[in-house]
Amino acid sequence: MSLQRTLSIIKPDAVKKNVIGQIYQRFEEGGLKIVAAKMKQLSQSEAEGFYAVHKDRPFFSDLVKFMTSGPVMIQVLEGDNAIAKNREIMGATNPKEAEAGTIRADFAESIDANAVHGSDAPETAAVEIAYFFSTVELT
Ligand code: UDP
Repeated sequence: MSLQRTLSIIKPDAVKKNVIGQIYQRFEEGGLKIVAAKMKQLSQSEAEGFYAVHKDRPFFSDLVKFMTSGPVMIQVLEGDNAIAKNREIMGATNPKEAEAGTIRADFAESIDANAVHGSDAPETAAVEIAYFFSTVELT
């Protein structure tokens, strides 16, 4: 077991559905602790920068439009194997393929509006946490 931190985003569709509390409960019940959090309306350039790795993919402009369509809730989650644990709690990218009981199976509409983001590896987690949180915001 290794103590890790991961970056989680509750996307505009889930914020609009008023299920932040229910999603936080899934994190906590899964053994993940919320160690930093902020609600934010992403600008176009902030969303483009965050998803820069996908900039050549056909869905990129729709993804940026979606991520800026309303406020998002951004948090750092901490726990044993937090990166993989969060991905497990989230479920597959496409909610149609997500296992029952996962966040995406229960709250996501489609592969585009899929409720949550979670870092996929230690390197990306470090970059993504630093993208949204300064050192003094992280204890
Ligand atoms: N996405 C999309 N259409 C696709 C694939 C991905 O809109 O065909 C969006 C979706 O919001 C997804 C994000 O791009 O969450 C990042 O894709 P990735 O494959 O990294 O999935 P994730 O890590 O979020 O499960």
